Amino acid sequence: MSTKQEKRIAEYARLFRVKPGSKVKLGRDFDPRFKADVARKKDGAELLGRGIALLADYQARLAAQDTYGVLVCLQALDAGGKDGTIRHVMSGVNPQGVAVHGFKVPSAEELDHDFLWRYARRLPQRGQITIFNRSHYEEVAVVRVHPENLDRQKLPAESKGAGVWARRYREINDWERYLTDNGFRLVKIFLNLSREEQRTRFLKRLDLPEKNWKFSSHDIAERERWDDYQEAFSEMLSHTSTRWAPWYVIPADRKWFARIASAVVLANALVEIDPRYPTVSRAARKDMARAREVLLSQAPDGAAADPFEERLARRRRKAKRRDDAHETGLVAAGVSDGKRGAP
Ligand code: ATP
Ligand code: MG
Repeated sequence: MSTKQEKRIAEYARLFRVKPGSKVKLGRDFDPRFKADVARKKDGAELLGRGIALLADYQARLAAQDTYGVLVCLQALDAGGKDGTIRHVMSGVNPQGVAVHGFKVPSAEELDHDFLWRYARRLPQRGQITIFNRSHYEEVAVVRVHPENLDRQKLPAESKGAGVWARRYREINDWERYLTDNGFRLVKIFLNLSREEQRTRFLKRLDLPEKNWKFSSHDIAERERWDDYQEAFSEMLSHTSTRWAPWYVIPADRKWFARIASAVVLANALVEIDPRYPTVSRAARKDMARAREVLLSQAPDGAAADPFEERLARRRRKAKRRDDAHETGLVAAGVSDGKRGAP
């Protein structure tokens, strides 16, 4: 990829980044309807297509290199569009290299461990991208908004009480730093939905029979706590956007834009990792040269010694002709390769 493209991706990602150490307030600092310089959904589709192709290429290299892993943490309010974002952004990548884990109300077994245990068990392997659909950040979001969740965690008395949230922020930051230091890169995305857009999406779930299954009266009850969630998420963003694992607040009122922006943020992390295909050692190259000789000697009568090489050469010739035609203006005049009946 050209440095110009890389720069553009970095600039785009920076639009959504929460500056480490800054104190943010969701309602004041972020507009859920922001759509940068992408005017229409139609332009967005092309951009997303390009982003998805880019991600596929980088993921292949990440897997081949087998050195770094990527953990995407997706947080949002109900109906924020987490599922759709995962579906669209990851649509082009090899499913073998991706894992998705959702985190719901903790089980009895999970509550019998420290609060990061269940997340640590699902971390990516090297070469893999893992997506957390909800993440360890629920531990300072829903658990903070509903402190009875903290009671269920069976913490010793000295670990509860005043200072518990400040301590959790520190512990999360330390854990993420440890992961980053060991080759696991975090990409933290908060889908920022407006209260009005959430209302519309809930109504859609009621209005369309095929969406009814998504409706949950629990979501309506949680909506009553809107301000508390805004406050908890603002605190979370202010305390856990770090140099090694910054947060990105993605405007989520337009689903199509949220998907582009999420793809850009993930692509930026991969560009920064810059995974490379492993290079082949001199000994392995010698081995390959010998194998080549053997295969060439096995060509049946009348067959090309290396049919693949022939095909490649044909493709190159065709591409060159197309470029030449373009230069001489033939393409502009409507005389394309196809019309000439290219061989
Ligand atoms: P969808 O977006 O499709 O509704 P979801 O992620 O909201 O999926 P649900 O089963 O609807 O899945 O909800 C999961 C619930 O689990 C949420 O209400 C969330 O607040 C809760 N939850 C997640 N983590 C924790 C936690 N650590 N402690 C308590 N509750 C949690
Ligand atoms: Mg839900």
